[in-house]
This record gives sequence, structure tokens and C-alpha cells, in this order.
Amino acid sequence: MSPPAFNAIRADADRWITGEALRMQREHKIESVSRLTFVVGKGGVGKTTVSCAYALHQAARNPRESVLLMSTDPAHSLADMLQVPLKSTPERIADAKGKLSAWQIDSDREFKKFLAGNRDAILNIIENGTFFSKEEIAPLLDTTLPGMAEMAGLLAIHELLERQDYDHIVVDTAPFGHTLRLFELPAHFQRFLNFLNVASSRDALLAERFGGRAVLPSHAFIARWEEMVKQLRDAFRSNQAEIFLVTSPEIFSLNEALRSLETLDQSVPEMRVTTIFLNRVVRDAQECVHCRQREQMADRAEKFLKRQFPHIPLLIGPDPGNPILGLELLRRFGVRVFDSRKVRLEAKPPAQSAGKLKLKTSEWPVAEVPLSFTIGKGGVGKTTTTAALAFHTRKEQPEIPVMVCSTDPAPSLDDIFQKLIGNKQVAVLGDAKFRAMEIDSVSEFRQWAARIRKQLSSELSMQSGGLHVDLTFEKEVFAALMDIVPPGVDEVFAIFRILDLVQTQAGKVFIDMAPTGHALELLRMPERILLWSRLLLKSLAAHRTLALAQDVAVELATLGQRVRKLLEIMRDPGQSCVWAVMLPEPVPDRQTTWLLKAVDEIGIVVKALFVNRVLIPDGEESGCSRCTRARGWQMAILKTLQKKYGKHRTYLAPELAGEIAGAAMLRKFTTRLWQTAK
Ligand SMILES: [Zn+2]
Repeated sequence: MSPPAFNAIRADADRWITGEALRMQREHKIESVSRLTFVVGKGGVGKTTVSCAYALHQAARNPRESVLLMSTDPAHSLADMLQVPLKSTPERIADAKGKLSAWQIDSDREFKKFLAGNRDAILNIIENGTFFSKEEIAPLLDTTLPGMAEMAGLLAIHELLERQDYDHIVVDTAPFGHTLRLFELPAHFQRFLNFLNVASSRDALLAERFGGRAVLPSHAFIARWEEMVKQLRDAFRSNQAEIFLVTSPEIFSLNEALRSLETLDQSVPEMRVTTIFLNRVVRDAQECVHCRQREQMADRAEKFLKRQFPHIPLLIGPDPGNPILGLELLRRFGVRVFDSRKVRLEAKPPAQSAGKLKLKTSEWPVAEVPLSFTIGKGGVGKTTTTAALAFHTRKEQPEIPVMVCSTDPAPSLDDIFQKLIGNKQVAVLGDAKFRAMEIDSVSEFRQWAARIRKQLSSELSMQSGGLHVDLTFEKEVFAALMDIVPPGVDEVFAIFRILDLVQTQAGKVFIDMAPTGHALELLRMPERILLWSRLLLKSLAAHRTLALAQDVAVELATLGQRVRKLLEIMRDPGQSCVWAVMLPEPVPDRQTTWLLKAVDEIGIVVKALFVNRVLIPDGEESGCSRCTRARGWQMAILKTLQKKYGKHRTYLAPELAGEIAGAAMLRKFTTRLWQTAK
């Protein structure tokens, strides 16, 4: 009997696999025939450009190999970059040389497709094993989905490896953080499996006691998932897998690359970065001051990377001043980078930029309300804008103290304030009334969860003396349920903590939010938090007479109240506002569009939209062709942004040479701002 193919299992999800089939499947390994390339990096470094160019180059050079370019980034831009229409299934790109296909994974759809086959089985496990009914648990299954995006990426890669349709798979991954979790078992999915394991353990116990079957269906089902993840890990660790790390020459970007390499080394030591890609490099600056500064920065970055990673090959991606879009330009970029051949990468700006965009100078805005939330995707200068808003507000209203808080899991307040910022507020920039703190959202939530668990645990063991099976079981269900918290809850907890601080001290607070948008998603549908806490409460129902169980119940009820209070504050235009940040990029910024939509649905006022790194003419260009071309492209892009986001007040912040860090740079940054004139 041959091992069952993953697809066949999926197609026939109701058929329980027997112990024999399970054993066979355990022994079955995916033959690592396909080459796997993961392109990783922080947002805004040109990860997708590198992925596209590499896939095009590989397909052209190896005409017999079928190459698949896929994106696991929920805000993907493959179609915009390649300038070909793509569906949510792999699509052959006819105009590319060789055999190239591309696929933008619709992670929601993929994961729902996967769950659809297993939904009843999951609900059965939970209903039989716990005190929850199907009706109660079904919404939980659906609402925890947003955290499953990485899992959908994994499922898709697994399926491709099984089918062996492609010789080489190039994966354009979501920005860091997501990617690192992609290589491990996504923690969220692991916790969900744990919950199922606990839920089915009562069945197993009963079966043992009454001499039932050795392998219960529910266990086979969970084992199958775990097996699939194990196969993937093996594939990632094989010598067929490679990682491209993309970075830009900015110090922020290099630091982040360094941190990510360390994290990768710790969490998945078998995976090695095989190539480092220094992108957006300016060479041959000639007489132009701007280009010369960027050239020097790139030189420093190159030396730094060679010194830090002497054994990892370094590739250089040039910045011609224009975006690298479309099959032909991307292919040339690949030839330039991977074959080191001189080819033209320059492209004229589109005709509509000829009609000039009128700009007028503007004052930096002051935050009029106590609470400011800054949103935007990674790598757009969100933290810089948050710090600058606080800096300017502080300057304009010297009697009012300000505080900058970051709930971003990868915060960078250290860099901008040139000081170690941690979980406690500290004065920065030599100003006692200017404070900053980075809140570790995850630990904030974990502390709360641990406190509740401890409360409950001490009470239950005290009550029962000799532990009773049922009590232990319910405690475990409660604990496992605490773990499958909907994504974003941790950030909401961090915001609670900030609100507590706000209430005890005067001043204005600026919150630099995580780029994932999970917290906004959660606040958009607050019933998700309430649903989850109701389930927690129900798991205690049998012990509702215990004093401490009552305390826990109160604590959970308080959670609901706090969420409602937070929403009230956010919706009050006298108390809160949102600042959105983006870049003048040629591909549509779906993430920001989506974040603004969530903000709109919650009912928070969007105060303004900042477009960062705009090349404003300042008379020092000396007719540089690269800068002229870059500005032409930006004008065209700004026009489309104006069309798209015109209803929001839009500020253009100039690109500054050098890093924006410290008081002097913040002062310089906050003296120049533009608006588009109607
Ligand atoms: Zn220039």
C-alpha cells in the first residue's frame, strides 16, 4: 500500500485513516525534489522586486525547469509588480521566457478551504471532549482565522511539494516576524492543536479505562496535521532550501536584518541565509549632492555586511531612480544582479506627470487630542512620524508633557531617541516632559493570563485535596482556551495599559501601532473578545460557587467593560485621532487602504495622511538625471494617491539625507512639510 497523498486525504476528509495508514504516513517523507527559495526582509526594501527578478531570471536561464513565483504576504503585490493579471490559483505567465507561473495566495480562502474539510471533525472533538456545544465553539473557529495567514502559506507550500508540479518555488514572504514564524510551526496553529489535544484527552482516558481502540479517530486527525508540519520542517531544513535576505543601505534596515539573522539562528538553526541582497544602491553619483550621500551610505552598508557576514555571498541591487516594474525591466534587473551584466534599467516617468502637481509649504500639525494612534505598514517611517508629531506638539505647547508609546512587536524607538527604551517610561531627548516606552504586548497579555490561571489553579487544588480528574481536565481546557486568544488581543492589552497611564498623568500620548492591523481588526469586531471571554467563563461554570472562580469571572467581565470603554474613547473626536503613514510607491498600498477602512468602520477620526520620503526640489540637484527621473515618477504617483486618498488631508514629508534620530534631526524634519494645492 502506498502512502496516502496529502490531497487525497484532504479530498476525503470524512474518512478516518486507520492506524496502519497513519503509520505509513509517518514514515513517508516528502522527497525534496523541488528547490525552495524564500525571499525575506523588512517592509520597503524591495523584497517583491527581488523575488520577481529572481524567478524571471531562473525561468529564462533554465528553460526546462518549471518555476513558480508565489507570495504569502497578505498584502501582496506580485500582479502590480509584474503588471500581469493574476488569479488566486497558480497562473502561467505566457510572456515570460521559460516556464514561469505566479500565484498570490489568498490566505483566508486557502485556510477556509482547508478547514472546510475538517470543520465537522474539529467541532465533534470539542463537543464530545468538553462542555462546549458546537454552536458555542463554531464562531471561535471562524474568528481566530486572521492569525492563520502564515498557516495558509504553509499549507500551500506543502501541497505544492507533494504534487511536485514545479522544479523551483520562489516564495515572496510577508515582512519579518511573519516569516520567522513561517519557518517554525506558526505558534497560533500549535496552540489550536493543543486545545484540540486537551479536548480529546478525555476520550482517550475513557478509552484506556474501558479497553477501547488504541488510536482514536480524533488523535489520527490531529496527528495528520502535526505530521504535515513536520514534513514541511524537514523540507525547509534540507539543502534544497535557500534564503535570500534583502536589505536596504539605511542603518535601521541593516540593524533589523542583523536582528532577524540572530532570531533565525536561534529558532531554526538548520536554516541558513544563503545570499544577502543589498538593494536600492546608488552608484556613479557624479555632481549631485543627494546621490552622493546615498552612494556613501551604500558603500558603508556594503562594508558593514562584508565584515559581519564574510561567508555569505553579497549581491548588489542598483536603484536607477525609477521603479522596476513589468516583465522586461524586472528580467533586466535580474540579468544585472545575477549575471553582473550591464543593462539599462532606466525608464521614463509616465506622461501624466508632465502636468505638474502644485505643492505648497505647510506647518507641521499639532495633536489637539490626548490620544494619537499612528498606523501604516512596515518600513514607511511610521515610528519617525509618530516621534516627529510628538516632538512638534511638545515644541508648540511647552507646558504640556508628551509620551510616545510603541505597541509594535518590533519597535524602533531606541534608534530614533538614541537611548535604550523599555517597558517603563523614560525621559528622552534631555527633556523631562518628553517620555517614551516600548510595551511588550505579548508579555502584557501573558502576565494577565498567568495571573488568572494561578488564581484558578490554587483554588481548584485547595478545594479538591486529592485532585479529581474532572477538575484537572477543566483547568486544562481553560488554560488551552486562554492560549488560542484571537490575534490582536495582546496589543489591545497594551493599549489598556497605556490608558491606565494616561489617566494618572496629564499630557498627550502618541501610540505607534503594530503594522499587522490585528488590533484594529479586533476592535472593529469587539464581539470577538467578548465571545472568547464568554467561553472562558463557561469553562468555569461548574465551579461558579468557588470564591476565586468568582474573582476570575469578575476579571473576565471587566475585560468586556474595558473594551467598550476603549472603543468609546477611540470614537470620541475630542479624545482620539488617527494619523496614517505611507510612501509614494508605484504599487498600490493595499495594507494602508485596508487599515483606513478598519479605522473608518470603528469610527475613529483620521486626522491626516503622511506621505514620507518625497523628493521635494531644493535647488541642490544640479540637473542630476537620476534625481530628475525619480521626481518625475513620484509626481505621477502622488497624483494617483491624491485621487485615491483625496478625502483625507495629506501632508508630504521630504526625504532627508541621513538617519532621522536625535533632537537635531527631529527639529530639522519637523520644519519642512508640504501639502498638495488644489
Ligand atoms: Zn541625484
